[in-house]
This record gives sequence, C-alpha cells and structure tokens, in this order.
Amino acid sequence: VNRTVAFVGLGHMGGPMAANLVKAGHRVIGHDLVPSAVETAAVAGVEPAASAARAVAEADVVVSMLPAGRHVLGLYDDLLTAARPGTLFADCSTIDVADARTAHERALAAGMRALDAPVSGGVVGAEAATLTFMAGGGAAEFAEARPLLEAMGKKAVHCGGPGAGQAAKICNNMILGISMIAVSEAFVLGESLGLSHQALYDVASTASGQCWALSVNCPVPGPVPSSPAGHGYRPGFAASLMAKDLRLAANAVRKGGVHAELGMRAAELYAAYAERAGDTEDFSGIVRLIREQSGE
Ligand code: NAD
Repeated sequence: VNRTVAFVGLGHMGGPMAANLVKAGHRVIGHDLVPSAVETAAVAGVEPAASAARAVAEADVVVSMLPAGRHVLGLYDDLLTAARPGTLFADCSTIDVADARTAHERALAAGMRALDAPVSGGVVGAEAATLTFMAGGGAAEFAEARPLLEAMGKKAVHCGGPGAGQAAKICNNMILGISMIAVSEAFVLGESLGLSHQALYDVASTASGQCWALSVNCPVPGPVPSSPAGHGYRPGFAASLMAKDLRLAANAVRKGGVHAELGMRAAELYAAYAERAGDTEDFSGIVRLIREQSGE
C-alpha cells in the first residue's frame, strides 16, 4: 500500500532514505532546516514543505532522522498537534534511550502512535537501501512501519517495547567500540613484538579473536583491502559518530548502575580520539592514536 510519509531531517542519512521511499512508490513530503538539503531531496522526488507542521498535516506516517534527542523532542512538541490523530511517528535518529521513551509517552498522550527505529549501516547503507532497523514499540506499530523500513533497508528487527530499538543500537555499538579498541591494541602489541599485520590477521580472523572490527573493518591497511584503513581512514563510520553512540551507551550504563568498565573506558577513548579525528576519519583510525601513545 502506498503511504503518505512526512520525512523530517534530510541530512546525510535522511536524504537518501527519503529518496528510497519515493523509489518504492510512496508520496514523501520532506522538511529540513537547511534549504540545500530540501533542494537535493526534491531532485529525488521528495515534495518540499515550508515547515515540518505543513509536512505532517497530510501524512499517515512521520519519519524523523535528526542529530540528537533534543531535536526529536523539540520536533515532537511542534508536530504532535499538527498531525492527524493516530498518525504513526517513527523516529530513526540515534538518541538517548530515556529521550526515546519520553518521545513515545508524548506521542501517545497526544493521541498519536510511536516507534523508535534507529539504524545501522551508515550513509552507504542509506543510499543502497541496505540499512538494518532496530525497532522499539508495539507490534501493530512495527507491522505498519515494516514495509517503509524495508523500502529503506534490508532488515528490520522488532526489539521490544518503547526504547528497545535505541537500546539494541547502543548495546551493539558498545560491542563494536570495545572490539575495535581491542583489535587495534592487539595490532600495536604485535608490531612491538615484530609480528606482521598479515600473520596476526591470518591467525585471529580464523581463530577466537575473530570479529567484525578485525575481519571487515580491519584497522591496519593490507589484510582487508576494502577496509577504511586501506583508503586513508576515510569513513565508513566516522569517529565522531562512534564517540556519540558510546556517550549514549555510557549515559545508560550510569543510569542503570551497570558495571561496564570497558564500555565506559571505550567512551572516554573515543571522546578523546574524536576531538581530533571528527567527521573526517573512520573510527578504526584509533589504531594510530594507540600507536602514537605507544611511542612508535
Ligand atoms: P545530518 O546532520 O547529516 O542530518 C540531520 C539533519 O537534520 C540536518 O540536515 C539538519 O538540518 C536537520 N534538522 C535538525 N533539526 C531539525 C528540525 N528541527 N527540523 C528539520 N530538520 C532538522 O546527520 P546524519 O548523518 O543524517 O544522522 C542523522 C541521525 O542518524 C543521527 O542521530 C545519527 O547519529 C544517526 N546515524 C548516522 C549514521 C551515519 O553514518 N551518518 C549512521 C547511523 C545512524
């Protein structure tokens, strides 16, 4: 069934995601605070709206793809009175779990329905419609959103109630952040022991050290030619985004009183690394910081 979708936040991720909804035959009305983002989306067939409130007035589903929780909550405050009762609000941004739960509560209180549906897969996945969606909310809401999510991605997992999608996202990325540091430290230790990158890779990638950080996004150039290390650490997944996700994980660790020493440490290391690497380096470039700090 073709739907009318209001898409708010047409940035690096939202722009191509909205374009894929158009390709799948949906009517998409888009809004972004940045006019050039709206213009680019319009070329792909997204109808420009002068305001977010205008965009949602006729929509069945509102998809948002914004930087952080405060943007999402601010937007919901503006929009929840502008949409038709029962409109489904699906937020795909990566935000704090507590903010996601607040967004659900506010949507429900206003007579709307809600889903948190953050993604993994990056800009490449957004363009190629190969994202993975992790959704939190009711089963009926997930079922309704599913065809839209599948038009923008290859997989959609219903993780549980409100906030469960955000929870899955930060738990996964906490594994990723810690494992990238682990793999990077092991390569630098190997260097100091005179072990070649290839030899360590050949052993660990088929032994118990195997993980995505090693075998797909290998932080040293050579063993995996397609990894960002082979391309000057061009992202990929930018250091700043890893730092953001680990900060969200660290918030949740603190709030929950969870004892997660490595997760907390990984958040600190990535915060420091992202200060200099920002958006221009892949998160695997942290291996260079570890090497520098080792005096090599
Ligand atoms: P981006 O900064 O490129 O896009 C965000 C857009 O939101 C911007 O164009 C901005 O102008 C717009 N915006 C902000 N407030 C607005 C408002 N009130 N109304 C309308 N538009 C508004 O960011 P991005 O890279 O597209 O990331 C979006 C979200 O996706 C973030 O939460 C990020 O953590 C998450 N994410 C990003 C990636 C990635 O690789 N870029 C991967 C997974 C998840």
